[in-house]
Amino acid sequence: MTKQDQSRDSAARYSVLPQRRDLFYDNTWHEPRGGYVPTFNPANQDNLGDTASANASDVDAAVHSAQAAFLEWRKTQPIERANLMRRLAGLVREAAEEFAMIDAINCGNPVREMIRDATIAAAQIDYFAGLVHELKGDTLPMGADSLNYSVREPLGVTARIVAYNHPMLFLAGKLAPAIAAGNTVVMKPPEQAPLSAYRLADMIAASLPPGVVNIVSGGSESGEELVKHPLVQKVALIGSVPTGSKILHLAADKIMPVTLELGGKNPLIICPDADLERAIGGAVGGMNFTWAGQSCGSTSRCFVHRSVYAEVCAGIVALIPQKHQCGDPTDMNTTMGSLISEAQFNKVINMINTAKHDGARLLFGGKRPADPALADGWFVEPTVFADVTPAMQLFREEVFGPVLAIIPWDDEEELIAEVNSVEYGLTASVWTRDLARAHRLAARIESGYIWINHISSHFIGAEFGGFKKSGLGREEGLSELLSYTQIKNVHVRLD
Ligand code: NAD
Repeated sequence: MTKQDQSRDSAARYSVLPQRRDLFYDNTWHEPRGGYVPTFNPANQDNLGDTASANASDVDAAVHSAQAAFLEWRKTQPIERANLMRRLAGLVREAAEEFAMIDAINCGNPVREMIRDATIAAAQIDYFAGLVHELKGDTLPMGADSLNYSVREPLGVTARIVAYNHPMLFLAGKLAPAIAAGNTVVMKPPEQAPLSAYRLADMIAASLPPGVVNIVSGGSESGEELVKHPLVQKVALIGSVPTGSKILHLAADKIMPVTLELGGKNPLIICPDADLERAIGGAVGGMNFTWAGQSCGSTSRCFVHRSVYAEVCAGIVALIPQKHQCGDPTDMNTTMGSLISEAQFNKVINMINTAKHDGARLLFGGKRPADPALADGWFVEPTVFADVTPAMQLFREEVFGPVLAIIPWDDEEELIAEVNSVEYGLTASVWTRDLARAHRLAARIESGYIWINHISSHFIGAEFGGFKKSGLGREEGLSELLSYTQIKNVHVRLD
């Protein structure tokens, strides 16, 4: 393709990008007082134009809109809330391909895979719409002279702040439990990839009453203003451990509940009795090279029993190029995207260099892809290191990039000690044909979400979240809905 063809082609793809990039509250667009900042295509550094950046007074206006809406929304019949949510789910589902292209252009993930994000988001909205009648209280036995009951009430205005790796899924899917429970929401999209949020705003306006769901784009300062706002009653974050810690400190001043979905350094364990072909597929798939490894659930520490170590290392190296090659994220055939930014690219390359310096054995990748068409993007090849030890940075720290660490193991006790020796505890995957071993390991691994002979999938209704520094609270199940309520007990004397 010539340069001219290329630019015509991207102009056609870019026509899907939303034109209006202001703040969205009260179902209306508002120019930001905080000004605008540009957003980029990380796969080629194209400037995609300006986006609103909310300052404290913008956040205040959005929160007040959400507070006014809350007073009405909390009174709306649950079944009516569910009906309106299902309308939103339908609109999101219909626009799945459009959302996928916007996110592919703005966050560098392959378009083919991003279509699934929109359909999962729609399914999550439908799921929580179906749970509105589970917002039940209790009655206590009191004898004939009194009645004692409890009810679940919404909290008020809630805030949702999300990371860049699945921008629309994290906003659209996860607004659902908050509004199903009768709260209103102010959401802050990721500063690196806010464009799909503006498209979502059109659908919110077409399905929900004004002020129920609001969007304030911006960076960490906008997020902090949202957390600190006196009318905000709960914050849910998807992000890094340092941000989670910062938000907890801010929430402590307000005595406000917080849900945190944070990072991971997740183990995948291959036992000597595993079906090796499937386990190798699991090791490659679980690393989420598709999103350039930028996934909290990536199983980035692959523990392989020494008796099958050489075979598994060779199998992983042979399989990767068949499954994942960096390419233009907007191309339907692309199987691996770019990193989000120069900062993330530099972080990943530095961690690769440190791993080499620490003595890990580079088996695959470790650099930019050679394809000149990708030279302007923040691409890193799928990268694999063998002989990683617990003393190395690569063993302990989240890369949030396409870097798989392979570690040999001999003894189950030592394995468990090494697996649990990091500060994180989000996901884990175990590969074995021995049922007793599978359950024994699942019981002893300090992680919130464990797959046996499986990887990566989330299941609607299955509570997702982390042990240790990987998070606080659970999402994607009934407990997430209940976390957006507070219990009120009422005692009635009847005599
Ligand atoms: P980040 O913590 O830098 O940013 C996440 C969000 O928080 C962004 O919207 C950002 O603007 C906002 N933010 C940053 N500082 C803030 C502050 N002081 N107050 C309020 N808001 C603030 O994370 P990131 O680099 O964008 O994302 C990568 C991290 O997210 C990784 O650690 C990854 O594992 C984690 N993650 C976790 C999950 C999960 O479900 N557990 C899912 C995806 C990503």
